[in-house]
Amino acid sequence: MADVDLSDLEIVDAHTHPYRVEGLLAKGSEGFDTRATFLGEAFSSSTRLDPDLWSTADRLTDSTVMGITIVRWLARHLGCEPTRGAVAVAREAALHEDAVAYTKGLLDAAGVVAVLADEGYPQPPIPAAEFAGTIGVRVYRVARLEPWILARREGSFDDLVAGAEADATEAASDPNCVAYKSIVAYRTGLDVGDPSSSEAAEAFARWRADDWRETREHAKQVRDFLIRRTLAVAKANDRAFHFHCGGGDPDIDLAHASPKGLFPLLVDVQHQPVVLVHSGFPWVEEGAFIASVLPNVYLELSELIPWGWGQVEPALELIVGSVPAAKVMYGSDEAGEPEGFWVAALIARAALQRVLGRLVDRDYVAVDEAQHLGELILSGSCRALHGLSG
Ligand SMILES: [Zn+2]
Repeated sequence: MADVDLSDLEIVDAHTHPYRVEGLLAKGSEGFDTRATFLGEAFSSSTRLDPDLWSTADRLTDSTVMGITIVRWLARHLGCEPTRGAVAVAREAALHEDAVAYTKGLLDAAGVVAVLADEGYPQPPIPAAEFAGTIGVRVYRVARLEPWILARREGSFDDLVAGAEADATEAASDPNCVAYKSIVAYRTGLDVGDPSSSEAAEAFARWRADDWRETREHAKQVRDFLIRRTLAVAKANDRAFHFHCGGGDPDIDLAHASPKGLFPLLVDVQHQPVVLVHSGFPWVEEGAFIASVLPNVYLELSELIPWGWGQVEPALELIVGSVPAAKVMYGSDEAGEPEGFWVAALIARAALQRVLGRLVDRDYVAVDEAQHLGELILSGSCRALHGLSG
């Protein structure tokens, strides 16, 4: 019997963040492996992490399995000694020779042919077309709600609602914009309620009087109201809606970030596709449960992949065994280091192949069926949901 072999399948990355070549070169290559771990990435994205702890984080990389693996695998890719120092020197030389070619080489080596880029981080947004030029593959735009709220809240509540709806509607007129996204888990929590317009307007007045402090007393009802409005725009324009769902950097409201908080909203909007970005990691069981009982809830695998590293394979086994693969999509959460695309895709392909192989061993699925599930997760589900042409 033939083994499951996913090695020739294309990969579409459903969750990445854009960056600029100048920004990449300016950072230099020292500590790039630390920046590729969750511990290190958070120093860029979080406002609450003390920058003085960077040296502590950087010292931990050579006892972090993911950090060790990046050095070993990148040494092979670059043809240098497998030490942190040698790899950093070789990477720096490759970046300065041709940063786009270096990145495209990593994407090609991992089989990544297209990505979705979340325009919400970093700010101000980097256009998808520019990011495509930076990485050498097709980039689709994911429009983010929260910056619209920030830009539109200085007027009246009605101005805010109309402005956010106008921004959402304009995004839908961009054929390259394939989804919306909210990171309310980083603001007032994923337990999105259903405030009335007057309740949200009253909360808006209190929020402003409170100098826009991000509290669940005032900001939450406004944000929850606008999320429901934007979901309606998404549905009217046939676009998926992505929620950051799960843990995150130290800016996250961790007490209100797990998938079950979002469940009442997901039931309310059950007729439109919603993607739980990160699958609720580390609460993957909750994400998988919800996606197994609500037909239009999808799972995206980043954060778990690659940052969960040792948790990737058991979590994939749980997800693949309980959620339709047509609703599961690969993602990396690459956030500024080109190795993020690459290492995540490499571990995903290898781990998924082993997980699917075990399903064949147990006589649950045939080899060709396992291949099909793998194709859905690595590219097919994301393409079908977002109507991608590439
Ligand atoms: Zn992200």
